[in-house]
Amino acid sequence: MVQIVGNSTERNPRPNSILKSGGRLVANVLDLLYPPQCGGCHKWGVGLWCASCDRAVIRFSGSQAERELITEKQSAITAVSAALFGATLREGIHAFKYNATPGMATPFAVMMAPALGGVLAQFEANDQPLLVPVPLHSGRQRERGYNQSEVLARSISINNPGLRLCTALVRTRSTRQQARLTPDERRQNVNGAFSAGAREFSNQSVILIDDVLTSGATLCECADALITAGARRIVAFTLARADM
Ligand SMILES: [Zn+2]
Repeated sequence: MVQIVGNSTERNPRPNSILKSGGRLVANVLDLLYPPQCGGCHKWGVGLWCASCDRAVIRFSGSQAERELITEKQSAITAVSAALFGATLREGIHAFKYNATPGMATPFAVMMAPALGGVLAQFEANDQPLLVPVPLHSGRQRERGYNQSEVLARSISINNPGLRLCTALVRTRSTRQQARLTPDERRQNVNGAFSAGAREFSNQSVILIDDVLTSGATLCECADALITAGARRIVAFTLARADM
């Protein structure tokens, strides 16, 4: 059955390409009707993330990009972040999460690319770490339509085919939004909220992907779930970090 479907697609690639060009046509017409608005400065017709907003973002370089996080179970995790969570990037990430613009993952993955070398340097040379997005609870993901960390991880994976996307880390219960909580409340809020299977993560290396590093409570809780599942090395990689 699978083979027949595969063969027929190979023999007749045409419907597929018509569908693809149809998709582009629809996208172009939509662009004319609703020109993309920049998530940072809210100007119309300049794309989802404009050059001027991109220039306003402060990038971290070298060891400035790194932080050490200590998890509840006392594991030390290196977190690498690409840029400062300043006003423009804050606005952009807010739009990325709440304005139904998963396409912003493309420019944001480009912003993360220069910091990827610092992430990979934390692993053995022959290691092939999995890209694991911090999950949303299924209810929130349905509401939003996508998980911003997952689309970021997918974009990074497309640009780096050696790094495979893995979505087997799950959020087992709904949590309150961390932004309004104190550091202690943040830790309690996410305590035990994640689960990872040994089948996927036993002896695996992991790059844990999230949009913003603030207190690190969520990343630490994810790391502990991955370590419990047998992951052997974990490095967190975020687009933004709240402190210099
Ligand atoms: Zn802009």
